[in-house]
Parts: sequence; C-alpha cells; structure tokens
Amino acid sequence: MKIPFNKPHFTGREAFHLSEAAILGHLAGNGHYTKLCQGFFEERYGFRKALLTTSCTDALELAALVLGIAPGDEVIMPSYTFVSTANAFALRGAKIVFADSNPLNPNIDAGSLAGLITEKTRAIVVVHYGGIACDMETIMELAAKHRLFVVEDAAQCVDAFCNDTPLGSFGHLAAFSFHETKNITSGEGGMLVVNDASLIERAEIVREKGTNRAAFSRGEVEKYEWVSLGSSFLPNELTAAFLYGQLEHLDIIQQNRMESWQRYRNLLSPLENKGYIGLPYVPDYAAHNAHLFYITANSQAERDQLLNHLAGQGIHAVFHYLSLHSSPYFSNKHDGRELPDAVRYASTLIRLPLFFGLNEDETGYIAAGIKSFFER
Ligand SMILES: *Cc1c(COP(=O)(O)O)cnc(C)c1O
Repeated sequence: MKIPFNKPHFTGREAFHLSEAAILGHLAGNGHYTKLCQGFFEERYGFRKALLTTSCTDALELAALVLGIAPGDEVIMPSYTFVSTANAFALRGAKIVFADSNPLNPNIDAGSLAGLITEKTRAIVVVHYGGIACDMETIMELAAKHRLFVVEDAAQCVDAFCNDTPLGSFGHLAAFSFHETKNITSGEGGMLVVNDASLIERAEIVREKGTNRAAFSRGEVEKYEWVSLGSSFLPNELTAAFLYGQLEHLDIIQQNRMESWQRYRNLLSPLENKGYIGLPYVPDYAAHNAHLFYITANSQAERDQLLNHLAGQGIHAVFHYLSLHSSPYFSNKHDGRELPDAVRYASTLIRLPLFFGLNEDETGYIAAGIKSFFER
C-alpha cells in the first residue's frame, strides 16, 4: 500500500463557483465571492471582521503592519512554529523573543510568558498547534494586564474552539491559512481576522495599498486616496470562488477528518500505554479540528528510524518545525535561554498522513506499521 502525506480534497463545488466568478466578470479582489467567504466566517464564528488575503504568511505580515510593529519592539512567540510566524514581525525590525513549548503539547508554555515580558514588549503571538487551543484564558489575562496585543497564528484552526469560543476570535488579530495542506483550501490563500474594532479601518487601508478604497467602495468617502503606508494583500475572485466551494462542505470535511483522527487515537493508544510513543494531548478547554495527527518518539534516533521504517512500507510520514531559536538565521540573535520542550518536539515529533478520505484500511495499515517497528 502507498499512502501519501496529504491529498488535496475537491468538494466538487469549486468548478461551479469558478465559472460563476468568470460569468460575473469581476476577477480582481473584493468582489462577490470575497464578500461571501468573509461573510461566512463572520456569521458562523462571530469574527468582528474577516479579510481574505493571499496567504496566512501575508495575513501575519499585514498584522505586523497594522499593529505598527517597529525596530525596538519585542514580540514573544513560540520557537516551535512555522517560519512565517517569526518573519512577519522580524521583517518590521522587531526583536523576536522565543518561548518554550508545553511539556504536554507543542503549544506555547503560557506559564513561561510573564517572565519574558519587558518594557519593550508589544505583542504575544500564539500558535494553536494542530488546531489544539493554547491556554487562552491565561494568555489574554496576562496580555490585558500588560496592555499587549495578542495575535493568533490560527493557520491550522478553522473550526477549532477554546471553551466553546472559536479560535481566531481571542486575539486583537488572527491569521488563517487556506494552503493546500490545511483543512479548507484554495491552493494558496489566507485571511486576517480583526476582532478589535479600533483596528478595522487601519487593516482595510493597509491591505489595499495604503488607500481608503474600502471606505470609498462603501460610499463613505468621495474619492480614494493614499492615506497611509500599505501594500497589496487581496486574493483574486477566482481564489475566493474556489474557497467558497470548499466552505459549502465544511461540515462534511470536518466530520471525515475527525473520524480519521479518532481512529488513529483508538488504534495507537495501546502503543502509548506501552510507552513506545506519545499521542496528542488535548486539554479540557480545547475542541480541536483534526488538522493533523502527530506522535512523539522517545528519542531523535528512534524518530528517524521509525520514519524510515514507515517509508519502507509506502507510508509518507514527516517531521517538522526545526525550532526557530536554533535556526541558522536566528541562533546568533537568540539570547541563549534553553527551550528544551521546543527542541524535544523538533527532534521527536512525527506527523502521520491525514487528509479527507483517509480510510479505515489506511489508518489500520499505518498503525500496524508503527506497531511492527516496536514489536519486530
Ligand atoms: C501553514 C502555516 C502558516 C503559513 O500559511 P501560508 O498560508 O502557507 O502562508 C503559518 N503558520 C502556521 C502555524 C502554519 O501551519
């Protein structure tokens, strides 16, 4: 059997909406389908303002511009994350202060944050790994106390919750991804969510090249002008039309992924009980979205051997995030603090194949492949 790591899912609705978009004849950004997608997220999850972007990377860069992050500012974020989380703020000249992960899961260790805050700290960026919520109650309380912005890197978080509140609605800003590897996709694509009403106008302006074009198109101003620095973050209507074809099947997609995730957990928990591997830890406050399924090995050597063993059986599992504080670009800028849990996840975590339609035979085969590594 050959099992890929990811397979993009087509709902069958995308082509219809793509041709509708072409018939409507407006292909640039902010048309009919962009508004439909943004409205979908605002209504379903109660986001104050949803703005489609060309990627989550761009949504994070837009967030840093909207917050006016500048040289001298400090921004706290986990070391165990994708490079885009850090690039967005480093590009603005901020000093990145990396925090460790939890001992129990790869999310930022909320208890370690108070000790990292200084006079210069402007923002905390959280990453909800695998759609499993960070400890948002603790983090929002701390941020309010020190008057810090909170940005959620919610790239992996469509339809995930913390204490029944959707992820992406806690931070002043949140960034989502619709990359091919995410639950809902337009190939490349993203979204900035603005929950702080005082940042909405500024987000609209920066997203549209520093102009007040959004207000102009609503008839609120008579002409649109250059009012600030900005850039272009708008996806075209074809991207939005494709995305809408996915959103129509959100519940079907989520149910299917949750079934695969649960099957993995059931099949692998005997191996966890024997101490061979670790499984995802989902705190009581978190309702995840089956974005990914990971296991942890007991050492890097064992992790690498297990990956080889699975590859030999046609199973494409992968490791990821090399901790950013020890990366070639950043290691000489890091302040030297040890971040043992970030390093541990970087050296022991494995992501198993997880995509829409991954069936019982396949999850069974993968679980048997893992078992056979430990019980040869
Ligand atoms: C996927 C991902 C991104 C980047 O998303 P793009 O849409 O590909 O730019 C950023 N952060 C995290 C945590 C991600 O998983």
